[in-house]
Amino acid sequence: MTPLNTAAERKRKTVLQTAAGLFFCFLLFRIWKCPFRLIFGIPCPGCGMSRALLALVHGDLKASLSFHPLLIPTALCLMLGVVFWKKNSRKAYRAVLYIWIAAMIILWLIRLVIFFETFTLSDLNGSLLGILVSYIPMPL
Ligand SMILES: [Zn+2]
Repeated sequence: MTPLNTAAERKRKTVLQTAAGLFFCFLLFRIWKCPFRLIFGIPCPGCGMSRALLALVHGDLKASLSFHPLLIPTALCLMLGVVFWKKNSRKAYRAVLYIWIAAMIILWLIRLVIFFETFTLSDLNGSLLGILVSYIPMPL
């Protein structure tokens, strides 16, 4: 095995190892469902993005918006972020990033309120939190 000579080679190796590790974790834990939801039993801020993207790719804008209304704004923010990053305008980049984060959190909180309107403890079944809760003795 040859030693890695340049910083670029070391960086590439680190990126590849990280990607391989994440892929291994993905396979190990069978995380084709949301890892956040798998652990806590509640949806994460990005839950629905994949389904929204699939619906959008299939031309169903209405379904896409119902799965996650911030998919298109997220794509726009991403493009704006890349443009601002390339132009070295860090202030504009940060503004876009913070607006996007705020929008994601506000939408997540709204969706959690809707989610918890019909929430029961049995909704935690299958999540790691649900498994922990099942060990707590409940009064009858
Ligand atoms: Zn999620």
